[in-house]
Amino acid sequence: MLGEFELIRHYFAAAACAQAADGVVLGIGDDCALLEVPVDEQLAVSTDTLVAGVHFPADAAGLLLGQRALAVSVSDLAAMGAAPLAFTLALTLPDAAPDWLADFTAGLESMARHCGVHLIGGDTTRGPLSLTLTVFGRVPKGLALTRAGARAGDLLCVGGSLGDAAGALPFVLGEQPLREDANALLAHYWSPSPQLALGQALRGLATAALDISDGLLADCGHIARASGVALIVEQQRLPLSAALRACAGDETARQLALAGGDDYVLAFTLPAEKLDGLRAMGQPVHVIGRVEAGQGVHLQDAEGRAIQPLQRGYQHFGSQRD
Ligand code: ADP
Ligand code: MG
Repeated sequence: MLGEFELIRHYFAAAACAQAADGVVLGIGDDCALLEVPVDEQLAVSTDTLVAGVHFPADAAGLLLGQRALAVSVSDLAAMGAAPLAFTLALTLPDAAPDWLADFTAGLESMARHCGVHLIGGDTTRGPLSLTLTVFGRVPKGLALTRAGARAGDLLCVGGSLGDAAGALPFVLGEQPLREDANALLAHYWSPSPQLALGQALRGLATAALDISDGLLADCGHIARASGVALIVEQQRLPLSAALRACAGDETARQLALAGGDDYVLAFTLPAEKLDGLRAMGQPVHVIGRVEAGQGVHLQDAEGRAIQPLQRGYQHFGSQRD
């Protein structure tokens, strides 16, 4: 059985994503890593913890988990308009199973390559399986996208179809037998693609942004609160994928798009005059509503009548799941 230091050397320090890179002055092996950020940029930092049995099934394949854990973290950089630089990995493992570790690092590697992010350190401990990733990104001074700038009159937009990951959950959990057309949903759940290009394109254009992790309505609530505005979501404009509609049916697909978690698609507010320019850049933009004076998140039908959503989203320690 590998000791802690052999394990770190063999699986993590040796990984391609842990080798020398621009902006990383010192990587794995010392007491700290050293990062270099140009004087006209700021460092964006975010931490996420994933716990077996809470955020993913305890028997999840290492490869899929490695991909997903990193994607979920990097998505926060996308939401701030930051360019990925580096990440650390604090890993708690019940045992050092070599096959699982090799699969896990392969998944991490593939997502690290996809996102252009480098492993610079971490911690390795024994205990129930959990992962904490901290990501570091670079953003030009003053251009980070926060949740606080939405203004009445802006459009409310998202960067892709909603509800796909939530639609995959019954298949992930084995509650429903696998079917051909669920594959696109499963790919979205296990390997979400952080919207890095969109986030960076939104710098200086969007007035507020975040990535949807807890469900559209719940996350829009964060923008509404931070910006001191009301967000109106027009139900008929929700982008739903063909795969989700086929697997879940139209009504459930809508519910999942509104309240299902794990999408990691960006939601943002945009002055209407910026829309054409953003689309001309080839960025995916779906207008789903608008910003008004007031507070809260309000769902409307095609005629502008208020709709009461069945469920708003996911909160740990809240009254719904967990
Ligand atoms: P310290 O005792 O000084 O905190 P550790 O012995 O925990 O250092 O780790 C030794 C080196 O290996 C450090 O540079 C640390 O960042 C790195 N490291 C430990 N675990 C991991 C991991 N899971 N992934 C990447 N780097 C790791
Ligand atoms: Mg340590």
